[in-house]
Amino acid sequence: MSNEHKRRFRIGRTLPPAAAPIELRDIVCGLRGWFRGERAVREMEESFRSFFGVRHCFAVSSGTAALTLILAALKEKRPRRTEVLIPAYTCYSVPSAIVRAGLKVALCDIDPKTLDFDYGELKRKLENPRLLAVVPTHLFGLPADVPRLREMLRDRETTIIEDAAQAMGGQFGGRKLGTLGDVGFFSLGRGKALSTVEGGIILTNCDEIAAKIAREQRRLYEYGALEMGSLVLYALVLTVFLRPSLFWLPSSLPFLNLGKTVFDPTFRMRRMSGFQAGLALHWREKLEALQAARRGSVRQWFGALMPAQAALLNDPPPLLRLPGRAKTAHGASRLLSGGAKKGLGVSAAYPDAVSAIPELAGDFAGEDFPAARDLARRIVTLPVHTYVNSEDRRKILGLLSQVEMQWPLSA
Ligand SMILES: *Cc1c(COP(=O)(O)O)cnc(C)c1O
Repeated sequence: MSNEHKRRFRIGRTLPPAAAPIELRDIVCGLRGWFRGERAVREMEESFRSFFGVRHCFAVSSGTAALTLILAALKEKRPRRTEVLIPAYTCYSVPSAIVRAGLKVALCDIDPKTLDFDYGELKRKLENPRLLAVVPTHLFGLPADVPRLREMLRDRETTIIEDAAQAMGGQFGGRKLGTLGDVGFFSLGRGKALSTVEGGIILTNCDEIAAKIAREQRRLYEYGALEMGSLVLYALVLTVFLRPSLFWLPSSLPFLNLGKTVFDPTFRMRRMSGFQAGLALHWREKLEALQAARRGSVRQWFGALMPAQAALLNDPPPLLRLPGRAKTAHGASRLLSGGAKKGLGVSAAYPDAVSAIPELAGDFAGEDFPAARDLARRIVTLPVHTYVNSEDRRKILGLLSQVEMQWPLSA
């Protein structure tokens, strides 16, 4: 079922699939933030709040924790609503948060051309009177059409939670991703657009939801001393080993489980630490530089792979990775193993549809999500981060020339 390629030991230039580097300068700011504690976190929240132009912002220990707090707040607001509708192909952290919040996962299949919801199916799924929330998701930074969802959503008691975990810094129709729903969240995890090792940000303009989230946030524990120690250590390890000359080492160590996506509702939820807030101190300029590099890289890929798409070439979105579909599952495996052998950062994504997660499978008896399952077998993503150089690109294009591909956005 899964097309996750086998890890292999190789020494030499190795690209990570996605990267938001942490620099030594950030670590210094992080240590200073650790010292300042709560104040550093409040300033970070204020800085995100004002940049995104929203009324409320909350920082916590992960995107998954952010979503869980949002869901807990909504559950309290509408206790009779029990289901949360998500795309059938998404990060397994999303159903993990729903289960952790004591709610039920509902699924809608995806449109393989956009990786957004299949809007025909969505129309039916939105008629569910138990629906507490629906979660449009900007997978890899490809914008989901949140205004279209809002137009379709007649039930005023269903909340739109925008999963912008992978999309910080992106836009849709001139508006900032993360601010299109009733409430939105970002991830600051490893491999996201901007990273503080781990972290999550909640944005909302709704005072009522914000008041409830604030209460949930105050209930969280702080990181313990050991947890803080390992957070700092992990930040240092990322600072050193994320670069292509050394990434072969962590990517060869199977116990690190890099890039693995797991369903686990027992994840850790903490307040964001001053250390993480300090790591993010210069986040605006950093995000801007990272996104400019990603845009440039996406433009180069588009130029090589779909030169007829002039509009995309003029204004390429700052994707986190460029997702494509091989025509066959066999083609996808060939690309993934060829890319792994040469350390090119070519990677699959989630191993299967959410409906195939064994702990959840019973909830979807009689339902099928063929597009999500098919995508899982055929998806291949290309790296677009700052470390990809023209030689890497040439090698990846060489692999791609042997396999027939379809690219989203190029419909
Ligand atoms: C990473 C991710 C999350 C969860 O964020 P974490 O910070 O890893 O907990 C949620 N949704 C999507 C689409 C993600 O990619």
